[in-house]
Amino acid sequence: MPKKRRNNGRNKNNKGNSIGVHCNNCTRLCPKDKAIKRFIIKNMVDSSSKKDIEDASAYNEENSAMPKLFVKNQWCVACAIHARIVRVRSTEDKRVRFVSKYRPDQKNELTKLYRIANQKFVESNNPFKKNEEEEETN
Ligand SMILES: [Zn+2]
Repeated sequence: MPKKRRNNGRNKNNKGNSIGVHCNNCTRLCPKDKAIKRFIIKNMVDSSSKKDIEDASAYNEENSAMPKLFVKNQWCVACAIHARIVRVRSTEDKRVRFVSKYRPDQKNELTKLYRIANQKFVESNNPFKKNEEEEETN
């Protein structure tokens, strides 16, 4: 059988099994390395209210910090696709390994970097060899 994904859709390297986590949306039990995870840090108050609160506050900005919301969201694959956190991508697009968010404006640049990293070694393109030759002539 052909393999659909090199990593079988998960990040289980050689560990046998991994602990299950419950999906935030449907509570489906999903392996931790397969679940789609997003860690969100956001302000509890929006920027317009924040200014009003800071003006009314007795404490200055240096000594007090506004409370923030720290939430780790975990979804099963079905919910992540339904909520459009991740999307179905073509084989070519799948080679781009995004760090956090799908950013179409940076897609071309990341694809280019991938191609450079996986380029076959060519003698004429070797930057180190050229430097050595220059040193010898000098
Ligand atoms: Zn779910």
